[in-house]
Amino acid sequence: MKYLSSLKNKNLSNQICLLRVDFNLTDDDLRKQKIPLRIKSALPTIKFLLGKGAKVVILSHRGRPKETSDKRQVTRVYTLKPFVKILSKLLKKSVQFIDFKKDFKTIKTIIKISPRGTIFLLENLRFFPGEDKNDQKFARKLASLGKFYINDAFAFSHRPTASMVGIPKFLASYAGLLLEKEIKNLSKVMQKPKRPLVIILGGAKISDKIGVIKNFLKNVNGHKSRVNCILTGGGVANTFFAAQRLPIGKSLYEKQMIPTAKLLLRSRKIILPIDSAIQGKKILDIGPKTIKRYVEIIKKARTIVWNGPMGYIESPKFARGSKAISQAILKSQAFSVIGGGETISILPAACFKPHASRLFVSTAGGAMLEYLAGKKLPGIEALNTSL
Ligand code: ADP
Ligand code: MG
Repeated sequence: MKYLSSLKNKNLSNQICLLRVDFNLTDDDLRKQKIPLRIKSALPTIKFLLGKGAKVVILSHRGRPKETSDKRQVTRVYTLKPFVKILSKLLKKSVQFIDFKKDFKTIKTIIKISPRGTIFLLENLRFFPGEDKNDQKFARKLASLGKFYINDAFAFSHRPTASMVGIPKFLASYAGLLLEKEIKNLSKVMQKPKRPLVIILGGAKISDKIGVIKNFLKNVNGHKSRVNCILTGGGVANTFFAAQRLPIGKSLYEKQMIPTAKLLLRSRKIILPIDSAIQGKKILDIGPKTIKRYVEIIKKARTIVWNGPMGYIESPKFARGSKAISQAILKSQAFSVIGGGETISILPAACFKPHASRLFVSTAGGAMLEYLAGKKLPGIEALNTSL
């Protein structure tokens, strides 16, 4: 794989670079977060390219327009237009929006005749059916707009769409600065993590995390499994409770995962909450004794991974467990990786300050879980096999 950072001394004056990012954020995300992590994290690569005199064409998808029936709603809700203002403000430079009303030839000309250092933002790629289908013709059309392709959309690397795996077949391709950072940090957990390694898993579905659990519990080359313990909360813990036939009332869990959960419970490394915060017939958070126990374990860890809230964080009353976990990680000296949309929404601002590379907040959720499950991510593979 080629890294963009290796072009540090290269002049890219007037070269057109297609930059795939993941701006898959809702209007609500944009309202709630001052500068969303995904936008902030895309800036270094954009600035790097501009600094070399390149023209940057930013590509992203947003939401799932196909699943909305009202066509007028689709363009309004899923357009990338709001990002023009946000990006221009952050980059202190105007950003040109390109909608898909124009044909590709016209778009190509507009980009070609623009001055060096121009930034374009192309409309939501999912307005084209070819994106999700990884249509080769669509990929070729996109590729025809530029000279280089840069993937900085780690959070979307598990999806084999035209802009992720199609374009690299036609253009010299590079991993952007964010993708490089994500891979370097996550690979620290995969390769010889300092032990004790503690993985904390919560959130809605155990099925999303099963790959990570299995990958870290398995014995590697005759050595004991890499993880020391897996602390559970949220729907993940509830499913383990159900597998133990404990009463969970109307709590969130996954029935079809019970047989798998039963098998996993044979491992002593899976730690379940010892008390819970309950409302009505629902378990909505880990309880105070569990918090204490988990915090003690986190204190001793030298590597930590966290994905998935410990409870129903949308209600402050049930965000206590997750808040306590975030504080404990912040205080710890362990190398820590935290990911997942909802999980990072609960983090205190201090977690986003550079902590001498000790704490890494990933822009990814699903892609991070697949990476940690040891799966090959199509977006990364496409860079490995590219020109
Ligand atoms: P992330 O986005 O960080 O990857 P998930 O999407 O897996 O996390 O799960 C987050 C969701 O799980 C949150 O909306 C949260 O309310 C919910 N959740 C966690 N624990 C519970 C619980 N005990 N009961 C109901 N919902 C829960
Ligand atoms: Mg989520």
